[in-house]
Amino acid sequence: MTIPWLDAILVCPACRGELAGRGGGYACEVCARAYPVRYGIPDFRLQPDPYISVDDEIRKIEAFAAPGRSFADMVRAYYVLTPESPPELHSRYIAAMAAAVMRGDGILRKLRAEYPGIGSGDLLDLGCGTGGMSIAASGEFDRVVGVDIALRWLVMGQQRLKEDTVDVPLVCANAEALPFRPGAFDAVVADAVIEHVRSPGMMRDETVRVLRRGGAFFFTTNNRYSILPEPHVRLLGFGLLPRAWMETVARRVRRTPYKARLLSRGELAAVFRGVGRVVLPWFEAGELGDRNEQLRRSWERMSSYAPFRFLVRNVVPQYFILGKRA
Ligand SMILES: [Zn+2]
Repeated sequence: MTIPWLDAILVCPACRGELAGRGGGYACEVCARAYPVRYGIPDFRLQPDPYISVDDEIRKIEAFAAPGRSFADMVRAYYVLTPESPPELHSRYIAAMAAAVMRGDGILRKLRAEYPGIGSGDLLDLGCGTGGMSIAASGEFDRVVGVDIALRWLVMGQQRLKEDTVDVPLVCANAEALPFRPGAFDAVVADAVIEHVRSPGMMRDETVRVLRRGGAFFFTTNNRYSILPEPHVRLLGFGLLPRAWMETVARRVRRTPYKARLLSRGELAAVFRGVGRVVLPWFEAGELGDRNEQLRRSWERMSSYAPFRFLVRNVVPQYFILGKRA
């Protein structure tokens, strides 16, 4: 697997030194770190996925990614192998994966609406999961790269891209230490990713670093204080718990580890001060179901009353964070 334009933008994520290809992997010419290629995907992770060790992850991939398996079969097999993820939520997760292309399409439309100059060139799909956004972007952007910390999702995503005949290289890496040259991308999108990284501040810095001058980023995230149930554990009021209790409550009620750290509007504004701004999502007609559409209308009515404005701004389910590199 050698893609010249991808190799041309890759650098060592640890020291940003030049890389040399060596025996199906990469090695840094400066710090001598070696980066393997696994299942055709370069693995530049400096830190493992916090939820699974590299060895356990490979064992799992071996079990779900049997040759000839379709993307849908892989996803189903994956959840059979993942009993710690609550079975009552599996169908919801699978539906979200299927809807990700449409969702990605919507996010890219919003990015273009906000920054009319951005809409082609090179896009980084940061936290790409199984590649829904990458598929949506591949028709518009000249080149798209998908990055995720979870090699297992990338292996599924690779199969999905193949089935859709979409040519997007996938790279395994930490959002806090991207293996790309400064200024490599015209746009960076990250849909519901910042609540899963170890350091939102480092993800912000890396995003800005890999953007060209005039390039833009567009993140979405779920609000800690959303008026709706917490999206990972589906529990109402979960965000009001002290952070130290969240894990215990998730394990007790959903028998699942809690895999997110949702930020409030104030926390997001603090992380992105001087770099980007936090905005309330703007919805387009038909984008949400009937029930949500009603909800949106009542919110709009409420937020026209000054006393409610503060409340509404702080309890919406989701925020967008966007910014442009000067
Ligand atoms: Zn290095």
